[in-house]
Amino acid sequence: MERNTSEDMATFKIAIDGPAGAGKSTIAKLAARELGIVYVDTGAMYRAIGLATIRAGINPNKDIAEVEELLPQMNIEIAHSEGGQSVFLNGEDVSVEIRLPEVSVAASDVSKIPVVRTKLLELQRNLAEKTDVIMDGRDIGTVVLPNAQLKIFLTASVEERAMRRYRELMEKGVECDFDLVKSDMEYRDKNDSEREIAPLKPAVDSVIVDTTGKNLDESVELIMQIINEARNIG
Ligand code: C5P
Repeated sequence: MERNTSEDMATFKIAIDGPAGAGKSTIAKLAARELGIVYVDTGAMYRAIGLATIRAGINPNKDIAEVEELLPQMNIEIAHSEGGQSVFLNGEDVSVEIRLPEVSVAASDVSKIPVVRTKLLELQRNLAEKTDVIMDGRDIGTVVLPNAQLKIFLTASVEERAMRRYRELMEKGVECDFDLVKSDMEYRDKNDSEREIAPLKPAVDSVIVDTTGKNLDESVELIMQIINEARNIG
């Protein structure tokens, strides 16, 4: 068991992990607003790198050496505002473009590459340094913030996660096919949980929350209850 440093103890960190479409970012964003703390969406960083590989014509599932070569030229920056988090790739705001379905798959592919994870780990830890934070991803409780005072593993059935993502994309005007959204999600679930480094899995000390059959309000209420209890104890 790792010991908390005095700096860890002075701030309150919440890790939210889970598979794609479990509602992590929506819930974490709302919770952060309610608590008045910083929200960090780490998936957006992998997406920015995925987008950079697509733009460079690289297949991140096959051309690993090319991704590694290009990586030092990818400058990823994060800005926080009232509206949430913006992601910049070499100075360009790519916050909208990184949500495209093809970028989701590229993000999952680049996330298996060790140097990509090392680069983003540093950025993520820097963002959480000296501040209360709620951070979501796949390995936050296990790798990025192992000393977080609260770790939540948020999940739901693949059918329901795919339906939520499908509706979200359609609402944003991104035309898509449900079966394709679902198969992309299954591909990412497998990729993310079977990779060698920092695979998607609940931290041993996490609270597992299954939101299957729960709407957003119910899920947020449940998570806020868990957070408030942990803050009172912490
Ligand atoms: O959370 P989101 O779906 O935006 O993440 C996109 C992809 O980035 C995931 O499928 C996963 O492969 C990768 N990721 C990761 N570790 C994180 C966050 C995201 O590997 N902490």
